[in-house]
Amino acid sequence: MSARVHLERDGDVAVVVIDNPPVNAGSAQVRRGLLEVLETVASDGGIHAAVLIGAGNCFIAGSDLREFGQPLQEPQLPAVIAAIEACDKPVVAALHGAALGGGFELALGCDARVAAAGTVVGLPEVTLGIIPGAGGTQRLPRLVGVPKAIELTCSGARVPSGQALALGLIDCEAQGDLRAAAVAHARGLVGNKARVRDRVVPAADAQAVEQAAAAALKAGKARPAVHAAIEAVMSAAQVPIEEGLASERSAFQALRVSREARALRHQFFAERDSARLPELEGVAPRPVQHVAVIGAGTMGTGIAIAALDAGFDVALLEQDEAALRRGTERIREHYASRVQAGKLKASTAAQCEARLQPTIDWSVLGSSDLVIEAVFEDLDVKRQVFARIDTLARPGAVLASNTSYLDLDAIAGATRRPQDVIGLHFFSPAHVMRLLEVVRGAATAADALATGLVVAKRLRKLPVVTGNAFGFIGNRIYAAYRRQCEFMIEEGAWPAQVDAALEAFGFAMGPFAVADLSGLDIAWRMRQAQAATRDPAARYVHIPDRLCEAGRLGRKTGAGYYVHESGSRGRKSDPAVHTLIERARADKGLVPRTLSDDEIQRRALLAMVNEAARLLAEGVARRASDVDVVLVNGFGFPRWEGGPVFWARERGAEALAQDMDWLADLSGPGFVRGDLCHVLQQLA
Ligand code: NAD
Repeated sequence: MSARVHLERDGDVAVVVIDNPPVNAGSAQVRRGLLEVLETVASDGGIHAAVLIGAGNCFIAGSDLREFGQPLQEPQLPAVIAAIEACDKPVVAALHGAALGGGFELALGCDARVAAAGTVVGLPEVTLGIIPGAGGTQRLPRLVGVPKAIELTCSGARVPSGQALALGLIDCEAQGDLRAAAVAHARGLVGNKARVRDRVVPAADAQAVEQAAAAALKAGKARPAVHAAIEAVMSAAQVPIEEGLASERSAFQALRVSREARALRHQFFAERDSARLPELEGVAPRPVQHVAVIGAGTMGTGIAIAALDAGFDVALLEQDEAALRRGTERIREHYASRVQAGKLKASTAAQCEARLQPTIDWSVLGSSDLVIEAVFEDLDVKRQVFARIDTLARPGAVLASNTSYLDLDAIAGATRRPQDVIGLHFFSPAHVMRLLEVVRGAATAADALATGLVVAKRLRKLPVVTGNAFGFIGNRIYAAYRRQCEFMIEEGAWPAQVDAALEAFGFAMGPFAVADLSGLDIAWRMRQAQAATRDPAARYVHIPDRLCEAGRLGRKTGAGYYVHESGSRGRKSDPAVHTLIERARADKGLVPRTLSDDEIQRRALLAMVNEAARLLAEGVARRASDVDVVLVNGFGFPRWEGGPVFWARERGAEALAQDMDWLADLSGPGFVRGDLCHVLQQLA
């Protein structure tokens, strides 16, 4: 018998235990074990029914993704499910924790599904660029109908047990002991098979199917896996199940080796590994329950909401009553609107708000375990704030700054305890965006860093550790990308063309639309601050400065690279901007030329890759995959392209080296080349 699956007996019911820690991933060994045990179940006259159950804290959280990049090993999952369906004794799936992907497909192959309260079930394959390949698209519609099956498969939604019961995805929710409930359920089925495959797909209104498909395509950006999933689910109502299963399997096989699936798997593993630091193994984080957030502006209020949602006690500090009132009001409005929209229970909102303590009395810092500073982006202001924190915070408290660009060591230097200082660089809106750069200063203690990572997880963020450098990982790469885009408008492209080309590549928004949205003045102030230290020989594009000088600061002033009509989210090109750009070109004696969309995309991406290589060489980014996590989760880089480093690897070393010569030539003086081996090696 396989070490991963064993058979126990409960009278005449066989209890098949899947034991493949940590999440019972459906590996080849598990499948082999299941087949062996199912043979025993079928042939042993003393067994009248069987229960499949997971050891540990879940049923099967999914298939072993590593296997998807290689030839699939025998036996494959459809064979295991076929054996369950062929067995003349009823087989019940006992679900707890998670039954996802192949795990849920296995459960759908059983005669019934009993789930512990709190279990989540679902088919998230589409989020990995594939479709369910073991009958999920054929059995699911037999339970919930085609429109709902389209919605569930295309969104990859994780459905909690209560909802799963209402939909018919599970047969009952176990009260008390799951195993006992499943055994009792199996006994009740003895003598009967209740295969999902034998059910008829409920008739659905053609319009409802069409609507579900259109909504799924829109939400899933019409990616190939979404198309394939819709087609497979729809075929369940049109062809015999054997035919449906065969075409589902072949679509799955084709998709799993696609570039998109590889990119999404890469991103999945990159995100899973981002918080793993070998040197922190065995380092105990400091306990955190009370968090103080200083600064109740855009970021401070978002951070406070994230902390309240995660169950922390939060003190919100400001410099004066008026600013505090504004910030507190924003938080209250946030909770009120969530409740009104039906997204949050009123009682939960009330609990969160009850844990908020708005104050201008800084002595509250004496009882805080973690202090997060989110005041103005000004080194002197931040140093003053940290000096004050130093006099009030208790020994051992972790002191964090949300600075976007400033030198963390200079901030830490304002205290007598730089070992306790870390950066927690949230992205806006801080209660929504998952990415969190956790910055390690020169003196940061290991347990302070470990605390940052644990807090990030509690906040349900995706932490990436970065060294202390201007802009850390994300903003520095983004600045190089934006600079390259500015070069291109100087050379002959228009902002709208650059934005459209990059949006066509898959970015959520082009760089000039982003600049208008976040305000051109932030970068302008930064350029002014750096003016004295800038290399005078380096290429410098004056266009953004000219826009700011003309009062065009973006959306907030109604105009930036585009004009924005009030109340509308749309953007319109503006002849005045074209004139301004033409003048800037003429000032430098540049003759504009036409740039193709391909050139725009390649140059923008190569600029990111080059900066990533530099950050890796400097040790600011620790792993090439961390760069991809940051760009995908914080900067709208299309997930299905895997991130800039994945993109670079796909181009291959030789093409990439040639590309970089080309980019360096086009970029002109001041372009600092990174050593590409850092990008290529670490992913190899
Ligand atoms: P903001 O101007 O909206 O808020 C800053 C708040 O800090 C104000 O309410 C102000 O009253 C308060 N403040 C200023 N000096 C203070 C002091 N001495 N003591 C107490 N409170 C003080 O700014 P923001 O956009 O929330 O940015 C805050 C920090 O977060 C900055 O370091 C910024 O770089 C960083 N950040 C901003 C964003 C963003 O998109 N806005 C993203 C990531 C990081």
